[in-house]
This record gives sequence, structure tokens and C-alpha cells, in this order.
Amino acid sequence: MRAFNGKTDRKGTVKTDSIETGHGTLRYPCFLPDATRGVVRCVGPDDLRSVGISGVMVNAIHLARRPGTALISRLGGIHDFMGWSGPVVSDSGGFQIYSLISRQSRLGSVSDRGFAYRFSADEKRRLVTPEKCIRHQFRLGADMMFCLDVCTHPDEDESRQLQSCKRTVAWAKRCKNEFDARVGEVPDDQVRPLLFAVVQGGSSPDLRRICAEQLQEIGFDGYGFGGWPIGSDGELVDAVHQLAFLLPPDVPKFALGIGRPDNLVRAYHAGYDLFDCAMPTRDARHKRLLVFCGKPEDLSFDDSAFYNCIYLEDAKHTADRGPVDETCDCLCCTSFSRAYLHHLFKIGDSLALRLASIHNLRFYVRLTEALAKRNTND
Ligand SMILES: [Zn+2]
Repeated sequence: MRAFNGKTDRKGTVKTDSIETGHGTLRYPCFLPDATRGVVRCVGPDDLRSVGISGVMVNAIHLARRPGTALISRLGGIHDFMGWSGPVVSDSGGFQIYSLISRQSRLGSVSDRGFAYRFSADEKRRLVTPEKCIRHQFRLGADMMFCLDVCTHPDEDESRQLQSCKRTVAWAKRCKNEFDARVGEVPDDQVRPLLFAVVQGGSSPDLRRICAEQLQEIGFDGYGFGGWPIGSDGELVDAVHQLAFLLPPDVPKFALGIGRPDNLVRAYHAGYDLFDCAMPTRDARHKRLLVFCGKPEDLSFDDSAFYNCIYLEDAKHTADRGPVDETCDCLCCTSFSRAYLHHLFKIGDSLALRLASIHNLRFYVRLTEALAKRNTND
């Protein structure tokens, strides 16, 4: 037990192979599907548990907009609201606001104070400060929280990258102060949440190092990769690898938004422990299903040849009696044929979305289990 604000520490615990939260364990490598608006789209909590998902990632800004974090708090917090008893990580929403503003500058602006933003032109402008962002996450009752950060595109010039780093560090400090004040109010019988910071710096190794050092001086439970992790060629940018080297080996590293299976493997080998992405469920809704090229325990993960993506709308699946993936043990693969799923997609039945999402999520859990096993055997 570590001392925490002078009280007996019942804070979530960082271990070498996992994080213990008040709602369960996140064992590395851990993939958390995005439940941005409080739902992993098309699947329920029982489906998540059945495929082995241990935690989900919600988004504070999206939930603050609808239905409102005060309402969720009144209804017992995000776990009760979603009917999900496992760990919930909340993203700050900084990346989403940045994406919004960079696409349409009239929707918002950034200043030292925080972000002023609205999701559409007919909405009222909202202000989110670092302090407010942490308060939203406490209202949710998340097990792991993220500091509000200022994202950049790697192509932006050095002065913008420097400004982003300065604001990210200043905001992280304000987030930490707010977190420390709020965490003291958490009842003693509850496990207290963890706080992660996000490292910015674009493609500049120097800025990444400075940002990482300054955030570590403030001190957080873990660190996330900030900015755009994927280059125009679809591969991980060098900064993803660089940041893993800049951080101590025993500190949890979150590869935010890194979701393509081969990129997840590369980031894991670079030293990242936690991953989130909307890709498995988004792909499922677009009829793209991920299939291992053999049993995961027999596969080499040295390149991207360990999996394929099948497109269920293809006519060749019309009379295919086989499962989506004959090595998979999910509900979709053990109960239904490719032909049936093809039919469900053709007639637009929502069961297709659920079954395809279950399968793709199970693919990610099997992938992370195979990587963990290989690591243990090594
Ligand atoms: Zn399956």
C-alpha cells in the first residue's frame, strides 16, 4: 500500500504486468474497445464479457455533451449507467475537440484557459478547461482518467508543436491539482482512480523528450502517446517507438487510438501496454471481419501476414457453410455460417452487426492473449 494524500491508499495499483482498478484488472497487453458515448456500438455488456473484454474506453467530452456527466453521476456513475461492472477508462476528449476544430475552425478555438467548442454550428459554445475535464471524469466515476491535452498534426510547424507541448504540460499540472483535490473526496471504502497524462511533440524527438520529462516531473500513474500515431502510409510513425524508449520501462504506456492489428503488435513490441480503438466494431459494421491465418498460438507476429480481412458482402460467401474463422470460439463462429451472416447483412438485420462485432472483438482478445503467452514463454 502506498501513501496517498495522507490516507490509507486504496488507489488503483500499477503492477509490472497489469493495473488493478476498483472494478477489476487490466492485464497487459490490454485492448479496450471504444465506448465513446457510453456504449460499445451494437454489443452489450454480456457480449463484451463473453469475448473476454476486460475494460472499455469512454469519452468525457462526448458524455458531457449527451446525456451530461451530472445526470450520469445522479444515476450512479458510468458503470451503473452502462450496466458494465468492469474497468472504465475515460479519455479526456482533447483529441476529438482538436479533430473537430482542425476540420472546421468556426466550431472552436484553443487558448491557455482551455477549449471553446461546439459540435455543430447550431449548438451553443462550451468551454472545457483542464479542471472541468477532470470534474467530468470524476462524475463519471472512471477507474482511469486522462489529462486534457493539446493535439497537433505532425505536419504543423515547430512553433505550433512547441506551443502544444507547453499547453499540454501546463494543463496536465492543472489536471493533477484538480485530481488531487477531488480524489481526497472519494470515500475511503472506494478504490481511487488513476490519472494518465498524454505526451505531445509531433514528429520532433526533442519535443517528445522534453514533454515526457516535464510530465514525469509532475508525476502520473501512466502516459499515453498523443498526436497522430499513423503516417500517410498506414504505418506507425517513428515518434510512437521513440516515446516508448523515453519513458521508464515499468511505467504503463497507453497507445491511444492504435488499433490495426499489425500496428497494435508493433506498438506492443515497442513497449506499450494498453490500447484502444473503435476499429474492430467499426469494421464489423462495414462487413469487414478479421481472420487469423492459422491458430494464433502458432503464428509469427513479425509482419502483417498473420491475419486477413474478409468482406462478407462478397458474393463468394452466399453459400459458404463455413464459419467466419474456423479457429475462433466466439458466438458468431460457433453458431453461424458465413452464408447466414452474408444473408443478414443483405437484408440489413441488426443481428449481423452484433455477431460481426462480437467476432472482431474476440479477434482482438485472442490476439492480445497470444502476445501475452508468447511473452511469458520467451
Ligand atoms: Zn469468431
